[in-house]
Amino acid sequence: MKAITVTKPGTMELLEAEKPEITSPDQVLVKIHATGICGSDLHVYHGSNPYALYPRVIGHEAAGEIVAIGSGVADLVPGDGVVLEPVTYCGQCYACRTGHHNVCRNLRVLGCIADGTFREYMVVPRSQVYPFDRKKLTYIEASLCEPYTIGAQATWRGQVKPGDMVLVHGAGPIGLIVADMAKDKGATVIVSEPDEARLAMAKDFGADHSINPAKDNLDDFLHELTDGEGVNVIFEAAGVPALTAHGVRLLSPAGRLVPLSFGKEPVPINFKEVNAKELTILGTRHQFQKFPQVIQLLPERLDRIHRLITHRFPFSQYEKAFALLENHNSGAGKVILTLDE
Ligand code: MN
Repeated sequence: MKAITVTKPGTMELLEAEKPEITSPDQVLVKIHATGICGSDLHVYHGSNPYALYPRVIGHEAAGEIVAIGSGVADLVPGDGVVLEPVTYCGQCYACRTGHHNVCRNLRVLGCIADGTFREYMVVPRSQVYPFDRKKLTYIEASLCEPYTIGAQATWRGQVKPGDMVLVHGAGPIGLIVADMAKDKGATVIVSEPDEARLAMAKDFGADHSINPAKDNLDDFLHELTDGEGVNVIFEAAGVPALTAHGVRLLSPAGRLVPLSFGKEPVPINFKEVNAKELTILGTRHQFQKFPQVIQLLPERLDRIHRLITHRFPFSQYEKAFALLENHNSGAGKVILTLDE
């Protein structure tokens, strides 16, 4: 079978790999049909993900079909559609014992520490796949489950509640998904994004207000909108860490700040504001137990999913797909590789 492998940072090849086989009763063999390219795949490719080990088959956003099951698997049959859980955990460490399995100290992430989904077949434990209804979602649509779980996790971390005023910085795929999930939780959503084409999509993803901070003064806008109280939750999904520092000023008392970006540079935070308003800063990483709810939500979101997916390429044209994502003026949203050629 074929597998897209980063042999070393900066070098990616379509290599022949051995088709995996079931070796234990709890495993399933999955044929991958559609797998999305994430920003983090680009980081592993370029060597800018500190956790990545090489050579590595990348990819972690995938939907496929069960083609064989181990003797101990009773609730799936060949032909079932499944999405893959990209993280596995030890269950023993402090994080796991306190319900934060997604930051397990022995976390294994597909496409980073373990071989990922950019290959034709995978063998994983039954517990690492979630079935979806193929009458409601295609494989390509279902491949958006993983990025949606990121939004589900971030809005859960931010404790978004009905009536909250929520600001999302950035209208890339993750910013739009976070906006969508915050709206689903009953919040009033404001999206701030300097790129007009991206900003135009915000309304379709639940934004009640959208603002271009390069044109209009965001602080003044929020001050007026919230009668000077400030917004209740801020998500930084623009990849601009300085916005988190600014966020402590924009938040209301008892507000929450969720920095989604992984910028390396430290950012000075004014703890006078943090304490005066008793703010909470909540990191967010991957997700834990968010797949079932996302699989339920996704069929109602086909309009949005179709807007997020701007391009699809046959697996063999992966170089074109990556080139498109590397070009920041390409207008690419989610780019999906398909294996149904
Ligand atoms: Mn992803």
